[in-house]
Amino acid sequence: MSGGTPLWDPAAEAPADWSEAQDAIADEAVRLALERSREGTVRLRAAGVAHPERRGVAGLRDVAVLAKDDLPKLQAADPPFAGMLGVDVGVLRRIHRSPGPINDPEGQHADYWRMAPAFRAAGFRRREVVLNTFSYHLTPGGHMMDAGLRAAGCVVVPGGVGNTAAQVALASQLGATGYVGTPQFLLALLERGREDGIPPTFRRALVSGAPLPLALRNLLEESYGISVFQAYGTADAGAIGYECEAKDGWHIAPGIVVEVLNPGTLEPCAPGDPGEVVVTSANPVYPLVRFGTGDLSTFLPNKCRCGRTSARLAGFHGRVGEGVKVRGMFVHPRQLAEALVGVSGVLRYQGVATEEDHRDILTVHVEAAVGQPPDLEFLAARLRETTRVRVDVRAVGPGTIAEDARPIVDRRQA
Ligand SMILES: [Zn+2]
Repeated sequence: MSGGTPLWDPAAEAPADWSEAQDAIADEAVRLALERSREGTVRLRAAGVAHPERRGVAGLRDVAVLAKDDLPKLQAADPPFAGMLGVDVGVLRRIHRSPGPINDPEGQHADYWRMAPAFRAAGFRRREVVLNTFSYHLTPGGHMMDAGLRAAGCVVVPGGVGNTAAQVALASQLGATGYVGTPQFLLALLERGREDGIPPTFRRALVSGAPLPLALRNLLEESYGISVFQAYGTADAGAIGYECEAKDGWHIAPGIVVEVLNPGTLEPCAPGDPGEVVVTSANPVYPLVRFGTGDLSTFLPNKCRCGRTSARLAGFHGRVGEGVKVRGMFVHPRQLAEALVGVSGVLRYQGVATEEDHRDILTVHVEAAVGQPPDLEFLAARLRETTRVRVDVRAVGPGTIAEDARPIVDRRQA
């Protein structure tokens, strides 16, 4: 690492045995959940986990995943936190509300969401003035980042959402060198500054909450000279991953266990195979055991050159809800795209899941390009390779599939 002392914590970010460190966090999370979370205790006991002992991450294998998408109805039935809060409501610092709606607790300790390592990895330093453009109202984004920035020693300008012209002028006047927010809003600020004749002062940005297409990253980095780093986290679990200076995947954040599970079988995915990001967090305020984020990603197989030993996620691969389960296997639009996009003769396609005699069937309808009948057998073989299930391929007439049709629809009875 160049530029002097590494600004990261070797014990948390580069333990000699990463899996062993993950096992210790898993054991602590189970202990806390059994002691403090009514909801967690029910799921753990159902899997035969009734007492804290050394089980490690592998010991969670039989524990059902709690889907984040189920939280709104669980919280509505058992407000405000569905029996998951590890402390009395009266000792919280704040209560936030995310879309869903989901109530999110914030405990008293500094950097409650453990964001500081992400900022340090992105080069944010003490005394640096940083504009934070995440919302400080209702949703916790603004406070999540604010707490991490303060723990990293930065001076926070709480910009919040909108007010583009005012934020550009303020950031420039203060000489703010750091930006936090979505990459899209960063671009909007820079473009506004250009229109208003205000020179940009940002040198680095930590972006989150929205995709970062490569073209946008290149534009921000090359045209505006801003080094852009991604961070990934949720209100429930706090920081999950972040980029280091190598910008090659998201290092798993200290303090959390990450599993990538096949959403159909719940088996751990091999590196390179996409699955659901499922987290386990030893947070005494809000202990989480196998909390399914609904986000899809995959582990990278190799070690990072930065020296951290933590595993890395390959980025955001979509949402679980966009896919379907077919005969226990999870099929995601990305897998259909991998097999079909750009293949000669295929103009449009749509996967349709149906059921016959209690058996799942996945049929992919293919609309041919004019004068180019597709080779259906060839397509079926390609689909089988990417989805790992048997797929029927059917040619359909021109105009059958709408241009904006969903890539996979589920026509089975719920
Ligand atoms: Zn790294």
